[in-house]
Amino acid sequence: MTTAYITHPACVLHDMGAGHPECSERLSSIEDRLIATGLLDFLNYQEAPKANHRQLERVHDAHYIKTVLNFTPREGQEYRYLDPDTLIMEHTPEAALRAAGAVVLAAELVMSQKVKNAFCNVRPPGHHALRNQAMGFCFFNNVAVGVAHALDKFGLKRVAVCDFDVHHGNGTEDIFDKDARVMLCSSFQYPFYPYSPLNTHNPLIINAPLKAGADSEAFRQAISDVWLPALRNFEPQMLFISAGFDAHLEDEMSHTKLREADYVWVTEQLMEIANCFAQGRLVSVLEGGYALGALGRSASAHIGVLMGVQ
Ligand SMILES: [Zn+2]
Repeated sequence: MTTAYITHPACVLHDMGAGHPECSERLSSIEDRLIATGLLDFLNYQEAPKANHRQLERVHDAHYIKTVLNFTPREGQEYRYLDPDTLIMEHTPEAALRAAGAVVLAAELVMSQKVKNAFCNVRPPGHHALRNQAMGFCFFNNVAVGVAHALDKFGLKRVAVCDFDVHHGNGTEDIFDKDARVMLCSSFQYPFYPYSPLNTHNPLIINAPLKAGADSEAFRQAISDVWLPALRNFEPQMLFISAGFDAHLEDEMSHTKLREADYVWVTEQLMEIANCFAQGRLVSVLEGGYALGALGRSASAHIGVLMGVQ
């Protein structure tokens, strides 16, 4: 069984302006590295469909979905700010629909055993998107749309989202905080953007905050001590990864010091959990990662582990 690689040309057209770190080259830095390493030839390449309204409405309010999808640029008003960091433009609605649709397709392919697991190389990212608000470069919460699809369509009772982006996945927490079927494991620099308070009321929100300057050892210790026992206890039937690579040493978006080997290691740990409890069912979705060289190397190493060749 293979690993699906899901992307779409429309994801490249979304553009938040010159010099914005969430740029289209992020996707090509990953794909170029997959070509250079020869991995792309062995991936099951799929074009992302658009998520439909029903799939989006599981995790977003109808009026917010309309705000994103009904945006039409006017003469002299090509952009609109939905949040101080997050610009919408003419190509954003389709890119956002394809990014969310990629994760729905990934869930379908994995649940129907057409592939072993999947990686979605998509943008805009999703984990800061709240139920009714765009935030932090995110419009629709792609991973949440996929999780909700897996829960509703396939009747799963326990799904885990593991988010190793350097920023806390506050949108995913907002969406699933009251859903007893979803565990959210998150590691993130703290205190740091988005400055959300640590959730202490929900035992399914598993936080591994990292201090500025945290290195490989601190990261692996936090995952080993905090995430892995919680995941083993929860026995998830499927795993989703919010795969942000902005905790990397070379990424100027953060002050943590992870390396490619740490992404390989954490992916191996999560594959082991998936193999043990979830018949290997795992879907990984790109979130952040802004140092293009480090992003390409880290994401392709992560994908190599998913393929079983690392
Ligand atoms: Zn991030």
